[in-house]
Amino acid sequence: MNDLKAKLEAVHSRIANACRENGRNPADVRLLAVGKGHPASAVEALRAAGQRAFGENYVQEALAKVAAIGDPSIEWHFIGPLQSNKTADVARTFAWVQSVDREKLLRRLSAQRPASLPPLNICLQVNIDREPQKAGALPESVPALAQLTEELPGLALRGLMAIPKPASATHDPMPSFAAVAELLGSLQDRGYRADTLSLGMSGDLETAIRAGSTLVRVGTDLFGPRPAQKRFAQE
Ligand SMILES: *Cc1c(COP(=O)(O)O)cnc(C)c1O
Repeated sequence: MNDLKAKLEAVHSRIANACRENGRNPADVRLLAVGKGHPASAVEALRAAGQRAFGENYVQEALAKVAAIGDPSIEWHFIGPLQSNKTADVARTFAWVQSVDREKLLRRLSAQRPASLPPLNICLQVNIDREPQKAGALPESVPALAQLTEELPGLALRGLMAIPKPASATHDPMPSFAAVAELLGSLQDRGYRADTLSLGMSGDLETAIRAGSTLVRVGTDLFGPRPAQKRFAQE
């Protein structure tokens, strides 16, 4: 538990350092703790250390954790691949969905968001490097999806999420990070109030903050390596 607290502090100082180096205010970069593959007890320990925003990738695993932890002040973000037969659970349980990349998901989430809850915060996921195996809308599809998100009841367009190709000896990821930031800027120029640039994970949060990220999603550097892919059979 103290170990988790130390890791949380270490991630906060990385964020603060990256902000300082880029002339940004650390208050403008939020931390999303990504608990996929880790037990509810680990999420609970981080909650006890003060973390409030948590991301989950698999619907069944997430529902079990939300029920086990039962703290209504936690802000749950769905960030994993979303199948349309799972949208009802997501629309009822989460405050944010960051992995929306097609019209059908928007229409279902809108129809299924309970009227008693505030609008579901939406980040459109962009496949910025046009990788065939990766989820996300192609950049040219984003304006129409943004417009639809604005029009549908029960949804609030908050911004963009992307997982750019990792850095390697032959690949500099900075142009891709910058391209996502530019795409969000173009939506803002059209008058959308989208304020969230969800970019950066354990390995590249500094690059993401340099590019303007307002929400970094960190799993491994908070919870340690994920236990061998414990996927739920139906997902
Ligand atoms: C797993 C995951 C993360 C966290 O990745 P780490 O490298 O473990 O920090 C962030 N975003 C998404 C969408 C993920 O699926």
